[in-house]
Amino acid sequence: MTSYDERLAAFVGRTLSEGTRAQDPVNVPMIRHWVEAMGDPSPVHLSEEAARATGRDGVVAPATMVQAWTMRGYARTVDPAPAAGGFAELVALLDEGGYTSVVATDSELDFVRELVPGDEISVDEVVSDISPEKKTGLGVGRFVTTLKTYRDADGAVVATQRWRTLRFKPAEAPAPQEPAALRPRPAINLDNQFWFDAAREHRLVIQRCASCGRLRHPPGPQCPACQSFEWDTVDAAGGATLYSFTVAHHPRHPAFDYPLVIAVVELDEGTRLIANLAGIEPEDVTIGMRLELDWLDADPDLTLPIFRRATSEED
Ligand SMILES: [Zn+2]
Repeated sequence: MTSYDERLAAFVGRTLSEGTRAQDPVNVPMIRHWVEAMGDPSPVHLSEEAARATGRDGVVAPATMVQAWTMRGYARTVDPAPAAGGFAELVALLDEGGYTSVVATDSELDFVRELVPGDEISVDEVVSDISPEKKTGLGVGRFVTTLKTYRDADGAVVATQRWRTLRFKPAEAPAPQEPAALRPRPAINLDNQFWFDAAREHRLVIQRCASCGRLRHPPGPQCPACQSFEWDTVDAAGGATLYSFTVAHHPRHPAFDYPLVIAVVELDEGTRLIANLAGIEPEDVTIGMRLELDWLDADPDLTLPIFRRATSEED
């Protein structure tokens, strides 16, 4: 009875596939699709004239396209024939060990010569290494490295590729959570960051000119009255009056509750700000009504002031 590790180790050096032929010879239409998709600006792939000007006999395929020639492409999605031979055996053994997921990690290519239209490519794949079990961000797994050797119709090597995949046990799915729809991010910059930082501490601050004492909102770098750049803040007491409002019906955003009352709130200190009203039906909202400050911890990064109908009617 051989251990699992020994059975895996026995694959090192084994050929997984041999002489797998490209479905089509190297051709210009496929080169064009690749070049357009990759945004490859080199003219030597599509212009005979430009290619000859570089000393080549004609257009050449992009070097990194070598792997694409031998892929099964779309056919694989309509005829998912199971893998055969050594490759199927290796995958079955990895599945047996619980390594049911796969992700490509890296690829190292060596190019021997450029491919030209008409080249008929085939590829062999040999296992060069299977790592011990490693802990990764995706789950525990093993890195499987293979060497792919690409040849032309004469059997001459045109490129080699060291191809590494991680075969891993998918990590336990985290407890199901409501996909959190986040409120749109405010545009935070050096001039207004202090305001959002204070909000996270549930402090509604108002910027105050340190020169003339004028309060201002929204935050800005300069006093509109005396042009001073010096400023500090005062904490708002939280009392306010409804200056104006609107009710948003459409379009709906999943981070908001509807009907959504959006208010221009006049603080007792005199500055106005835009905030949502909470806990009140739109038909009960009246301009001039007394409001009091509350806080909405919208998500871990965003806390916003909201306003409710004042509980103590002191007018
Ligand atoms: Zn001022």
